[in-house]
Amino acid sequence: MIVAQNPSPPILELRGISKRFLKELDFAGRMAERLGADIHEELVHAVDNVSLKIQQGQVVGLAGESGCGKSTLGRIVAGILDPSEGQVFYRGQDVALMPAAQAQATALKIQMIFQDPFASLNPRMRVQDIIGEAPVVHGIISRKEREDYLDEIMLSCGLDPSYKRRYPHQFSGGQRQRIGIARALAVKPEFIVCDESVAALDVSIQAQILNLFIELREKFNLTYLFISHDLGVIEHISDHIAIMYLGRIVESAPSEALFENPNHPYTDALLREVPRLENRHAEFAPIRGEVPSPLAPPAGCHFHPRCPRAFDPCAKSAPQLVTLGGERQSACFLNDISMSKNG
Ligand code: SF4
Repeated sequence: MIVAQNPSPPILELRGISKRFLKELDFAGRMAERLGADIHEELVHAVDNVSLKIQQGQVVGLAGESGCGKSTLGRIVAGILDPSEGQVFYRGQDVALMPAAQAQATALKIQMIFQDPFASLNPRMRVQDIIGEAPVVHGIISRKEREDYLDEIMLSCGLDPSYKRRYPHQFSGGQRQRIGIARALAVKPEFIVCDESVAALDVSIQAQILNLFIELREKFNLTYLFISHDLGVIEHISDHIAIMYLGRIVESAPSEALFENPNHPYTDALLREVPRLENRHAEFAPIRGEVPSPLAPPAGCHFHPRCPRAFDPCAKSAPQLVTLGGERQSACFLNDISMSKNG
């Protein structure tokens, strides 16, 4: 899949990434198994054959309902999870084949910022150590340079350096997220995976943190994979958006084009449903039905049981992601019909 038609090689490329987890039996399941019930561990298909290219400096939004596999994909990009199949390329090199020292350096270049700033910060560490320790340990700065470097990073993230001896609980939610961002920034990353990084914050604070991400991108030439279930947030920050449904990317397009003219029926339904930053109180029609379980995704197009436009082939085979012109791709049989009509 090509996200942007850009002649320069992408900073990050995913090729055919799949991730499956074995869902272990809970206590009741294990008891039932011992009593002879035909019950066993099941395979969760979290990510299914995803390919994606992200160019240097781009912000790619990854959106979809919860449980669609976007966080799993983010963790694979950040090197926290290994894929079951497929390859991750960073600056043209397969991460799995890199020598140990290069793999370690690449791991520092890709940082992840999580949803819950409080849970991801060690409550017993002072902010100066949370932010300042890793760059010293990894040899990015010397111990002598630490204080000035720490002040500089804190100021870049909108934090007052005079608070550096405080602990995370002494800060508000928005400030804690700024500390999480400063910690990631301190190791001089090139690529940041933001996983629902503003979801736990109040709407007014969300806007401030989104603006901080935009400022930092300019200042440090960062590239983001920005994961969110909130299309209003995704629209605010992304150049390009990929929509996921049950482990697959179903549509990918430049942000403006996707919002103005969604192609895939799932994108269309999401846009009708999800409040956007400028009209959060508007009422939207819910997508009919529940997201099916990734333990047993529907055959064919995964969206067919909920799709208002489903027709005969949709339950039988899976539509492929095809380029529709420009930088838009979509996986829907309706495109095959319109393409054959147009010649
Ligand atoms: Fe709907 Fe069929 Fe398109 Fe899937 S392939 S989105 S079910 S019309």
